[in-house]
Amino acid sequence: MAECDRRSFLGATGAAAAILAAGGRATGRAVAAVPEASGRTWRVDGARLARRLKDLSRLGANPQGGVSRVAFSPADVEGRAFVAEMMRAAGLQVRIDAVGNILGRRPGLRAEAAPIVFGSHIDSVPEGGNYDGDVGSMSAIEVAEVLRENGYRNRSPLEVAIWCDEESGLTGSRGFVGDLGAEELGRPARDGLPLAENIRRIGGDPARLAEARHEKGTVAAYLELHIEQGGTLDAAGIPIGVVEGIVGIHHYEVVVRGFANHAGTTPMDRRQDALLAASEIVLAVNRIVRSVPGRQVGTVGRLAVRPGAPNVIPGEVAFTVELRDLRTETIESLWSRIEGEARAIAERQGCTMEYLLRPPDQPALTDARMRDLIAGVADDLGLRHLNLPSGAGHDAQELARIAPMGMIFIPSVGGISHSPKEYSRPEDVANGANVLLQAVLRLDQGALK
Ligand SMILES: [Zn+2]
Repeated sequence: MAECDRRSFLGATGAAAAILAAGGRATGRAVAAVPEASGRTWRVDGARLARRLKDLSRLGANPQGGVSRVAFSPADVEGRAFVAEMMRAAGLQVRIDAVGNILGRRPGLRAEAAPIVFGSHIDSVPEGGNYDGDVGSMSAIEVAEVLRENGYRNRSPLEVAIWCDEESGLTGSRGFVGDLGAEELGRPARDGLPLAENIRRIGGDPARLAEARHEKGTVAAYLELHIEQGGTLDAAGIPIGVVEGIVGIHHYEVVVRGFANHAGTTPMDRRQDALLAASEIVLAVNRIVRSVPGRQVGTVGRLAVRPGAPNVIPGEVAFTVELRDLRTETIESLWSRIEGEARAIAERQGCTMEYLLRPPDQPALTDARMRDLIAGVADDLGLRHLNLPSGAGHDAQELARIAPMGMIFIPSVGGISHSPKEYSRPEDVANGANVLLQAVLRLDQGALK
């Protein structure tokens, strides 16, 4: 905000306050000033946001042009210190909770009210990009910065959350909602060290894990801005995605057994070739998943052939089938068709088939009021929007267990993510951050009431 704008803004809010103090007999001038106090015309500083994204991308920069800022690595520790300092400069009271999340609070006029929480993560996959998590994190801090610059007096406490270790298992957000089991603390993380030791190293306190836990109702609402990581918005040329939910994931371990025999002496009509059966099943998975309308996806991503020799007919094939959708019923009905066909295929090839379903990730739906809020803000900002599911997991799915949750997506150019080639245009980032800013303001002003 330029200096002259700031003066006229302060003058306007001052006039509004004086009128209200005098008993609310508003004049035309004061009425015009009131919307300013609500912050409706405030916008993020897109250039500052782009600069900060660039600054953050230097920490853990890899030769491919992305970042390798894996949770608990020296680059992550450096990134966290950088972010915590930025949060303090934005006027937030910063602390590290017992799981290692960085939380920055802007106290509210109603000190006892449940906080409105918004944020994302700054850890990356190995050889990741500069936008996954970073866009939401830098934008959340930018929102706090805009509120500070304008002297906004929030009613509810606002809390910026930078969740720890999102990429290897939503560690921080699961700890925040009380879903991180004590037994997990002893398990080695990616670097081989026990999780507890890693958490301690970033300033958390695994012995007091229970203190990080939040019961349902203790958070007023959770909002997260994130890159889409898919190509829907980019292909449609639509700047804002209103996330319907984070898909559930069913992961089946399938084994097809035939008979491993001599590849030279066994005639073609006397074989029990497990790979032949598995191959037909792979095709069936794709066909069945595509046979019904919707955005469900199904993938066979791993396949192991035994004994795995050129001169032996495959006797056993183990493979995975992964199904994702917003509705568990869709996943279950797809699987029942896949299973039926797979058994018939196996039988025709003289094989047997069995499977195991790993503990599924349940879908996490966004709150309908939060979707309306995001869509309404986008409309008011003149930004086209589209409802879509998130095919990737996010910290927001954990927060959905304890609070109304909403997610804003911005386009990922070419739908590329978890890659140094990941890119979102600065104007899209700024648009997303403005939607976040206005949504936070409206939540504070009672949008969910
Ligand atoms: Zn992410």
